[in-house]
Amino acid sequence: MSEAPSSGTPYPYDAPASQALFDRAAAVTPGGVNSPVRAFRAVGGTPRFMVSGTGPYLTDADGRQYVDLVCSWGPMILGHSHPAVIAAVQDAVSRGTSFGTPGEGEVALAEEMVDRIEPLEQVRLVSSGTEATMSAIRLARGFTQRTKVIKFAGCYHGHVDALLAAAGSGVATFALPDTPGVTGAQAGDTIVLPYNDLESVHEAFHRHPGEIACVITEASPGNMGVVPPLPGFNDGLKDACRKNGALYISDEVMTGFRTSRAGWYGVDGVAPDLMTFGKVMGGGFPAAAFGGRADVMAHLAPAGPVYQAGTLSGNPVATAAGLAQLRLLDEAAYDTVNAVSAQIQSLVTEALGKEGVAHRLQTASNMFSVFFTDREVRNYEDAKRQESFRFTAFFHSMLAQGVYLPPSSFESWFVSTAHDEQAVQRIADALPAAARAAAEATAA
Ligand code: PLP
Repeated sequence: MSEAPSSGTPYPYDAPASQALFDRAAAVTPGGVNSPVRAFRAVGGTPRFMVSGTGPYLTDADGRQYVDLVCSWGPMILGHSHPAVIAAVQDAVSRGTSFGTPGEGEVALAEEMVDRIEPLEQVRLVSSGTEATMSAIRLARGFTQRTKVIKFAGCYHGHVDALLAAAGSGVATFALPDTPGVTGAQAGDTIVLPYNDLESVHEAFHRHPGEIACVITEASPGNMGVVPPLPGFNDGLKDACRKNGALYISDEVMTGFRTSRAGWYGVDGVAPDLMTFGKVMGGGFPAAAFGGRADVMAHLAPAGPVYQAGTLSGNPVATAAGLAQLRLLDEAAYDTVNAVSAQIQSLVTEALGKEGVAHRLQTASNMFSVFFTDREVRNYEDAKRQESFRFTAFFHSMLAQGVYLPPSSFESWFVSTAHDEQAVQRIADALPAAARAAAEATAA
């Protein structure tokens, strides 16, 4: 191992080809990446540039193989390069890549989704989760003729201007823009509340009678680490929305078709008015969707007045990949993913426990993450109280031993049906040293 010449990181690195690509990328792309968290800023060091993926493994530009516990941030639930998905894509590509007309693939994908999720009566396909949440909110506003939106601190719904607001927690407040470029007007109709706090939701409805179009929440949050809803929370949201004439939007971009055959709805059974999807339903391609009650969806163009469109929406290659993946996701597949997830979870807690590292592993079905704290994490404020420097040491030790974790302690870990005994053994072998590194880490 040698020291990184240009990243300035204190971490040892042995990824010269990735470093060279990162340097090239930085010259032509802001920060060298096309999505910020990929840059390793939270943990330091050189992001690995991957060249291929097979089953549970990724291979980087230096030829090193990693057990992948990110799975492209969720989509690759069957592992990388699944033969059935690849075959479906090859078949679709051989017939053309985009027609700009309706096609059978998008109908079949919509049917498969509607068939799995009872409250999902109609869907509209889009190309990213961001587009899905943005469009769902526009539709909710158009349908209710109201302007305000409630979201929860620590929930991420893509980079929709109005939803990047995550200011003031504790009480209902008008959020200020959280990032330059989002105007006060764009964020001014967003009310940011602490997650898992129904009281603050009731207060917000009380303070803004007849003004709130919708509440949007991650069905079970995974973007502040895994922080599942407390019993009754989602139910309470739905109830509050119903009583106050607002729509309840469940963002299932991350949980959809991952946490069960019917996503988080399949776990808690709380029926939303609208839902959003992405990740797994695209099989590794840019496909996403929003949908829900037919009477609400009827307000969408061309059936209704709320405009929404997309050149590549329902793209034949993306829909073929998504459909092939969904068709393989039967109960047995979820049993496999859940079992391997549980196995990895107990290996992690055992290793950290042996080294006396205070930690809390939280789960939502097969999604899980580790917080370096001994207290329960119920919201974003709790999540921020963890000792993230321990995660950094843990992360780098795992990476050096060939296990690829999400490069931030505020992200869920993801596994797939392809994580077999051999992959799990490689994780088990890496954990003791990583746990020791976490135990020995000190705050900068
Ligand atoms: N909603 C949730 C819950 C997400 O986790 C994400 C992305 O991670 C999004 C929306 C945005 O999706 P995309 O990155 O496809 O725009």
